[in-house]
Formats: sequence, structure tokens, C-alpha cells
Amino acid sequence: RAKSQGRNTYGFYTEDLTRFASQRLDLETRLRRGLSNEEFVVFYQPVLSVSDGTLLGAEALVRWQPPGEQMISPADFIPMAEETGLIVQLGEWVLREACRQMRAWDAQGFVLPSVAVNLSAEQVRRQDVGTMLLQVLAESGLAAERLEIELTESSLMQQGEKAAMLLDQLKQHGVRLAIDDFGTGYSSLAYLKRFSIDKLKIDRSFIKDLADDRNDLAIASAIVAMANALDIAVQAEGVENDAQLALLKMIGCGSWQGYSCSPPVPPVDFEQRFLLAGFCA
Ligand code: C2E
Ligand code: MG
Ligand code: MG
Ligand code: MG
Repeated sequence: RAKSQGRNTYGFYTEDLTRFASQRLDLETRLRRGLSNEEFVVFYQPVLSVSDGTLLGAEALVRWQPPGEQMISPADFIPMAEETGLIVQLGEWVLREACRQMRAWDAQGFVLPSVAVNLSAEQVRRQDVGTMLLQVLAESGLAAERLEIELTESSLMQQGEKAAMLLDQLKQHGVRLAIDDFGTGYSSLAYLKRFSIDKLKIDRSFIKDLADDRNDLAIASAIVAMANALDIAVQAEGVENDAQLALLKMIGCGSWQGYSCSPPVPPVDFEQRFLLAGFCA
């Protein structure tokens, strides 16, 4: 068959495609099962003030822990969850879990000012996210002002009117909006005027070589200046060393997250390492 005919033949290609398709189907099935078996967990990464290092909040980041297997990173399952629509269920679960965790910490006397939750464009497209969000907030008893929603520029652009309506609704209730991975999307800056945005998160690709690449420093500093002028907060993602942090301080960036303080960690670790201290120890 294909083997005797050499590599790039139809038969060979079909085999690959079939394997590819069945792996995908397998992932979808496992994802579905993972949801009903509660195999997902939420990790938290601290967000700190650039000027004095105080703990300002956390970003909630989902992980998948199938029993007896290695933990799976969101990059490896979010795309499939989006394609299949399972992101609607998963995204709602992450939000509910993050709100529940905040209230549990409140009850223990650890009042974290803010939690950020990522929202996918597919959630905006497939569901009335606004109603869902307000319902989850009401059920959890978390004040809307303590929730920050992260959307990427491309999500805003793709979902145009729907996104605009969602943002208005959230704004009315006091939920804050952050633009994730800022600077990487193909979008005009006009939306900064059109939508009321509370925070820009400078993508970590600009932070990575901040100390060595003058262009990155120029871009980061221009983002900060623009945001300041528009009265929008700025946060740096992916801060891994003191040199980057010093430069962020110099250009007037407000907050940061990154391995230099900590990767996302399980709730118990977050509690012990950050909530007790109130800063990055
Ligand atoms: P993101 O929202 O931009 O999250 C930041 C990512 O950067 C996280 O990866 C985080 O672990 C990583 N990171 C943080 N600090 C550093 C650093 O100093 N250096 C480096 N190299 N990386 C750092 P993670 O947790 O693997 O998540 C990847 C992406 O998956 C997220 O990017 C987000 O787009 C998506 N994601 C995660 N959780 C959810 C979720 O609940 N819902 C949705 N829709 N997407 C999610
Ligand atoms: Mg994010
Ligand atoms: Mg990001
Ligand atoms: Mg990112």
C-alpha cells in the first residue's frame, strides 16, 4: 500500500489524517468527561503593585488534572474547548470556582482585593455571558467591583456589537475589564475610545527582552503613556527578573505578574505564600 509508494502519497496522508482525527475525537471525549468528573482545577497567580510590591489581586488560570496523568496546560485544551463549545461550560465553571474561592478566603479573613478571570471570544459568541456573569456574582456574593474580566483585543474585534453590549452591561454593574495580551492583536486603537476599558495588560512578548531591546522598552513605555493619558491602568505580564521590574517602575507601569514573584499556584499555596504576607515574599 502507501508504504511501497513512498512518503507523500495519498494513502500515507490518509492514515495520518485518520490518526489526527481520532486523536481529536479522543481529546473531545476526554474533555467532556473531564468536565463531568470535575478534573479541572484553578491556579492563582499574584498581581503586585510595581511601586511597592503590595498584593493587589490574582489571575485565575485553569488547569486540567486527569487522574493518574500529568497536569495539562490550557494551551493544550482551550482551543479544542473553544472549537467544540465546551468552553461555555468550562468558562462558567472557572468563574464560579474563582468567585467561590474569593468568598472562602473572605471567610478566613484574607480579603484579596481582586480576581481576574479570562473570557474566551467563543463564550461571548455562543452565550449570553453578561447574564451568566451577573448570576454567578449574585450566587457567590462576590462584589462586582472585585471581579476583573480579561478579554483579548481580537475577542473584542471579532465579537463587535455583542462585545460592546456585554461591556456596557458589565460596566453598569461595576465589573472591571482588562485587555489581555495587549499589543499582539490586529486591531485599531479606536476601541480604546469606544469601549470603557479599565486596564491594559502588556503582552509578555514585549516584557521578555525589556532590559536588552530598546524597541520593546519604547513600545512598553508608549503603551504606559497612552494608557495614563486615557486614564486606563497598565499591567505587565511575564515579569521574570529585577531588571524588568526596575524598568517598569521607571516607565510608570502600575502592576505586574510573573515568575519573578511566582507562577500560578494552587489555592492552598497562594494562601500560605501570599495572602498571609500581603506581598511577594
Ligand atoms: P493569559 O491569560 O495571557 O495568561 C498568562 C499566561 O502566562 C499563563 O499561562 C501564565 O502561567 C503565564 N505566565 C505568567 N507569568 C509568566 C512568566 O513570568 N513567564 C512566562 N513564560 N509565562 C508566564 P497559562 O496558565 O498556561 O495560560 C495560558 C493561556 O490560556 C492564558 O493566557 C489564557 O489565554 C488561557 N487560559 C487560561 N485559563 C483560562 C480560562 O479559565 N479561560 C480561558 N478562556 N482561557 C484561559
Ligand atoms: Mg489572562
Ligand atoms: Mg495575557
Ligand atoms: Mg498571554
